Amino acid sequence: MKEKITVVGGGLAGSLLSIYMAKRGYEVSLFEKRPDMRKANIYQGKSINLALSTRGLFALEKIGLDKEILKDAIPMYGRMMHSKAGEINYHPYGKDGQAINSVSRGKLNQKLIELADKFDNIQIQFDSKCIDINVNKTEATFELANGSHQTITANRIIGSDGAFAATRGKMQFTERFNYSQDYLHVGYKELVIPASAGGSFLMEKNALHIWPRGSFMMIALPNPEGDFTCTLFLPFELFDKLKTDDQISDFFRNEFPDAYAMMPTLLEDFQRNPIGNLVTVRCYPWVKEDKIALVGDAAHAVVPFYGQGMNCSFEDVVVLDNMIEKYGNDWNKILDEYQKERKPNADAIADLAIQNYYEMADKVGDKHFLHKKHIEHQLTELYPNKFQSQYELTTFSLSSYRHALEQGKKNDLLLEKIIKDGAEEKIHDADYMNQLWHLIE
Ligand SMILES: Cc1cc2nc3c(=O)[nH]c(=O)nc-3n(C[C@H](O)[C@H](O)[C@H](O)COP(=O)(O)OP(=O)(O)OC[C@H]3O[C@@H](n4cnc5c(N)ncnc54)[C@H](O)[C@@H]3O)c2cc1C
Repeated sequence: MKEKITVVGGGLAGSLLSIYMAKRGYEVSLFEKRPDMRKANIYQGKSINLALSTRGLFALEKIGLDKEILKDAIPMYGRMMHSKAGEINYHPYGKDGQAINSVSRGKLNQKLIELADKFDNIQIQFDSKCIDINVNKTEATFELANGSHQTITANRIIGSDGAFAATRGKMQFTERFNYSQDYLHVGYKELVIPASAGGSFLMEKNALHIWPRGSFMMIALPNPEGDFTCTLFLPFELFDKLKTDDQISDFFRNEFPDAYAMMPTLLEDFQRNPIGNLVTVRCYPWVKEDKIALVGDAAHAVVPFYGQGMNCSFEDVVVLDNMIEKYGNDWNKILDEYQKERKPNADAIADLAIQNYYEMADKVGDKHFLHKKHIEHQLTELYPNKFQSQYELTTFSLSSYRHALEQGKKNDLLLEKIIKDGAEEKIHDADYMNQLWHLIE
């Protein structure tokens, strides 16, 4: 008899995971609390588009979906910063041709579900909300649309039910389970810069736009239809001050004048769209024996400022699959090695993501920071085999998030030294640089 796996949550990680497990020959039952996203138009209350980068693409490539997803994606080669005075500053993300990709969350999820549906050994059940888990019996109970309950027993359960996971909630009742959640003091609201009347983009299409304003910011990612999805990140006490149409208009006119001129539906969007919370969830262990494991946001929700939450969740799936390859059917070992490898990296990307909030909101408008970024970019171009920026390691490589975090700290020492020496001109001089490389080793 084939092994059975219950997957709870058919979002980005759960649908990908089901495909990986089915390819390994397991009998997968995937339960999703929402209706079928191919039939119903579900507003997920999360971002409309997402930045997909190297780690996520690698995971999709393994199931042959990368090219299809990239067809509808818009590459963003750098950050475009908008000052209050309307000045624009552009900084490339990586070397020539390196880009992060704006993709639609809904379409990506749909494509994954469509592919999952093609496997005979995946059963997908929508409108099925997990309400209970018996970890020791590997039993999961779901509430169905008509209010009835259904209990399923499998060889193991994998929880991919997101930042507020019911599966994790049940694991909290197991022994020595550590858990913390930290809300950022900032919430977010999605808004729109529509396409022009002719359907073209009103700003540079191939960039991620940022309006950094110190304690808050707005960003915009392009969509294939010619519009941009803007996300306003604002401390909650400032959201509280934006109640009337006049307050909202005044705020946008003062803070984001160039964007304001391109947002004809601002008031409608602002009043209608909810304010989202941003949470960092850390927990451990992620597994209990060979019975249950957590993947994706269920194990490690991170704030979105490095554009890595989904990419990291997809990487979880790849690592879990690698462990199956390595340890065969020894699920105690598979799950234990999976959590040991992923936990330090999830903690690292959680730290990097918070760090990047302050960088995006505040520092990208700071002269010293921009100078440092300029030198950093030159070093990546001049010495590609010696110097890799933290951003490059996080976004355009498969090396561990922990390495990216540690290397970033070392790089900073090097960059500060060059600035302290007033030696920007000398970075072309290999002799000068040879005296400094030890700082990043
Ligand atoms: C504003 C914002 C912007 C972001 N931008 C980026 C970005 O640019 N790049 C990036 O990589 N990441 C980004 N992220 C992070 C990304 O959205 C998440 O990391 C990713 O969605 C995690 O996937 P997941 O499958 O673990 O969780 P989810 O996508 O949340 O999926 C969980 C699924 O489980 C289902 N579910 C929940 N509870 C139950 C239950 N009890 N029973 C059954 N089903 C259940 C849900 O309906 C959902 O379908 C962003 C997040 C936010 C909030």
